[in-house]
Amino acid sequence: MNEADTDLPGLLQKAADNGVELVRFFIADACGNLRGKVSSLSSALPRFESGIGLVKGTMAMNMLDQLQTDTGLGAVGEVRMVPEPETFTILPYAEASASVFCRMEELDGRPWSHCPRAFLRRQVEEAEKLGFRVLAAYEPEFILGRESDGEFRPIDRGLCFSSESMHAADHFITAVVKALKAQGIELEQYYPELGAGQHELSISPAQPMLACDQYLLLKETVRALAQAQGLSVTFAPKRSASEPGNGAHLHLSLWTADGKENLFYGDAMSSPDGDMGLSQLALSFIAGVHQHLKALCALTCPSVNSYQRLKPSHWSSAFTAWGFENREAAIRVPSVYRGRRESSTNIELKCVDSTINPYLALGAVLACGLDGIHRKLSPPAPVAVDPAEMEADFDLCALSGLEPLPRSLNDALTELEADLFLMKSLGAELVNTYIIVKTSEVAAMQDDPPFAYSQHRQRY
Ligand code: GLU
Ligand code: MG
Repeated sequence: MNEADTDLPGLLQKAADNGVELVRFFIADACGNLRGKVSSLSSALPRFESGIGLVKGTMAMNMLDQLQTDTGLGAVGEVRMVPEPETFTILPYAEASASVFCRMEELDGRPWSHCPRAFLRRQVEEAEKLGFRVLAAYEPEFILGRESDGEFRPIDRGLCFSSESMHAADHFITAVVKALKAQGIELEQYYPELGAGQHELSISPAQPMLACDQYLLLKETVRALAQAQGLSVTFAPKRSASEPGNGAHLHLSLWTADGKENLFYGDAMSSPDGDMGLSQLALSFIAGVHQHLKALCALTCPSVNSYQRLKPSHWSSAFTAWGFENREAAIRVPSVYRGRRESSTNIELKCVDSTINPYLALGAVLACGLDGIHRKLSPPAPVAVDPAEMEADFDLCALSGLEPLPRSLNDALTELEADLFLMKSLGAELVNTYIIVKTSEVAAMQDDPPFAYSQHRQRY
């Protein structure tokens, strides 16, 4: 994937030279699953203009493939999936396929109200109008294992960050990193995480649309290579009570339009040790996200299973707290690097997991951060302890704007419905469908065992 490389006939010729026969046209549905259709390479060129047809009902399907016709979307109505040429990527793990991410347009070419890319694009344009370039990165965790006798067994039981776990997953991780590189995706860091078989790969920050595309390609790559190596992988927010959850933390910073100056870096507030400094702009962005956090969870932690992870003492955040280098805070300001203090200043949203539609989640977070900037908000006091320890202290909670995050998907959807700003940003048609689809998942899983995972593991 190469932003500068949009010479379409050249791209397709290069693909043909590399043995590509098929092109996967992808959209991400309400639940973040990639769905689409496949064209032969030889007939792909005109499709870049005309697109490929897709029934509108696709965006009204929940993660169990149950179509929610009360959204008004069903058997009737068609859109076009129109490819974005700069996302064309030869898939190193597939037999002979490339993929391309698509926007969704009405038949007359207008953006479709339900298109997640169109929603994110609107938020990016809003940032650009204010003179900002946004950098973002998702940081997914996953559990790698083997299926035997119908049971999933993690690939290692090594310690967190341990060489033992690195060895156990070496063959797999090396293949993933090479495949990412072949797709133009640079690894930032890899390490074994706390749980059995849990690993984390982070990639370099990029502009929002690219960051979302790359996150989805990363997930695709991990899944495909696990399958190729006879392994099994899950990105489920919480696989079982005894294991740590899988997050997909979201890192963000705002830069000048030329990308030279990090506008989050400044001296409006310093960390207690004086090492990290945030600008007023960063504080306003944090305040905006903080104010909308409970509603945002409906988009950043959007599955029934998400709320098994979003609990105190999981380092996943459970309260509307922000703080410097605080891993229990929903908004963490990570420590900066000596020698590159300015460029490494960013914020991390921890209440995010891999059941997201990344375009909707990032677009929503961006909209809320920009809302904080528009309204020149200042955040409450940063939290320097585990927020669970403050819960009983009413005054401290008030000072830090501390409230519990939603405890269930249903609660999060109720928060979303009450957040008129976010509802309006998403647009009535998109958000109406989204809420119906997600509510249907709550209903479909209400009798499931607490994790709503084992029955639906193939979806994660
Ligand atoms: N696994 C934790 C989560 O679910 C995050 C651990 C960490 O990287 O701080 O968010
Ligand atoms: Mg981690």
